[in-house]
Amino acid sequence: MRVCEQLKPKNVFKYFEDLCQIPHGSGNTREISNYCADFAKSHGLKYIQDENNNVIIFKDGSEGYENAEPVIIQGHLDMVCEKESGVEIDFEKDGLQLYVDGDFLKAKGTTLGGDDGIAIAYALAILEDDSLLHPPLEVIFTVDEEIGLLGAESVDLSMLKGKKLLNIDSEEEGIFLTSCAGGLGAVCELPITRVEQEGTAYEIKVTGLQGGHSGAEIHKERGNAIALMGRILHTLYHEIPFTIEKLEGGLKDNAIPRETVSVIVLDTKKEEDLLSMTASLEQEWKKEYHTSDPDISIQCRKLGEGKRSVLHNSSAVKVLFFLRNMPNGIQNMSMDIVGLVETSLNAGIMKLSDQVFSVNFSVRSSVTSRKYELADRLAFLTEFLGGEISVNGDYPAWEYKPESKIRGLMAEVYWDLFQKEPRFEAIHAGLECGILSGKIEDLDCISFGPDLIDIHTPKERMNISSAERVWNLIIEFLKRSK
Ligand SMILES: [Zn+2]
Repeated sequence: MRVCEQLKPKNVFKYFEDLCQIPHGSGNTREISNYCADFAKSHGLKYIQDENNNVIIFKDGSEGYENAEPVIIQGHLDMVCEKESGVEIDFEKDGLQLYVDGDFLKAKGTTLGGDDGIAIAYALAILEDDSLLHPPLEVIFTVDEEIGLLGAESVDLSMLKGKKLLNIDSEEEGIFLTSCAGGLGAVCELPITRVEQEGTAYEIKVTGLQGGHSGAEIHKERGNAIALMGRILHTLYHEIPFTIEKLEGGLKDNAIPRETVSVIVLDTKKEEDLLSMTASLEQEWKKEYHTSDPDISIQCRKLGEGKRSVLHNSSAVKVLFFLRNMPNGIQNMSMDIVGLVETSLNAGIMKLSDQVFSVNFSVRSSVTSRKYELADRLAFLTEFLGGEISVNGDYPAWEYKPESKIRGLMAEVYWDLFQKEPRFEAIHAGLECGILSGKIEDLDCISFGPDLIDIHTPKERMNISSAERVWNLIIEFLKRSK
């Protein structure tokens, strides 16, 4: 017997269970894409399947709705594949083992892929059901959302007529996302020169920081190990003559760096000063960061004496100037949505080679002009110091619309069905809505979904009655979109 047979809405869970039998981790979407294309074929629906496995399916409006404005329904085909240790599964070949636990649907020892299989299941159930009342539908299934919004980036939407989009890829029932940040990566490079110098080398390490996601956690005031290394070196700079041999830290531009290491070269006679200054700075930091990073620590140890290849003084001072003056962290808070970070950046990776000092930043803003304004500041700082900046991965924001028909109708339907006020929120990270609204002029969209808990982990579970309520919300929304 099928696990979901007794669950309601029946068709939604029928499709969801089917999808769970098809392996569909990111990068492995051919089969699930074919499943959706075959569905369209067998139901006589017009569809497009592109070479990247994105699928678009069209359905005419129901009787009386033929001329209504089309509605776009969108979700992503790929899922994050995670398993508990000891669980035997080949995510390339095996389906998931579903089971019901109270009001939750789960998969044994693995992610469930409710993110975002539930969107696909809802859409197929709507497309299949000729008894529903709805405007013309344009359904978009994108691939590889989880590894950088790749399907949204590659899909061609020039043939679509709809300007209203329901993105079913949020995880808390009753919370509707209305805006997300755009972003870009910036790599700032300063040319440096090295000289040979006698002295004693000391390694300084900043460790014990919490780090985190540079979008979702930038407001938590966690220490950035790159900026903090700049602060140590600048503090020493006033008191002890030294120069720099090594500077390194951070792994990704979109993760707040947790550790950095530097090697500086100085006169051994200054060792005591060095140790006492770093120790007292550590005490200061323990107070400043006692909430956000209680384990913050500075370690200092002697490496040895001898001739070392270090930065020429003029290079060292430029590097220090850069580290002390680079913008980092929150730049603006939103004045439309309380508590939302509007513009921020994160210094994520720092490197020092024989010729170049570089820092990689991730810049985010829900206001496009502020994103470029910030990139421009980085460019001025870098170029003023004789360096160059390069920008990569520029993607658009999904800007908050003060006037949104889709939000108005959703609020009305939600209230009528549940007698509760919906919450409209925004996030300081990327969503497919951002990229899609860059492709469809004047797109009005909203992102929502049923309760999914612990997504991207083997504990992922979907609340069954929430899935039914959200189904009712979608079909009522479509019915009123005449
Ligand atoms: Zn998702």
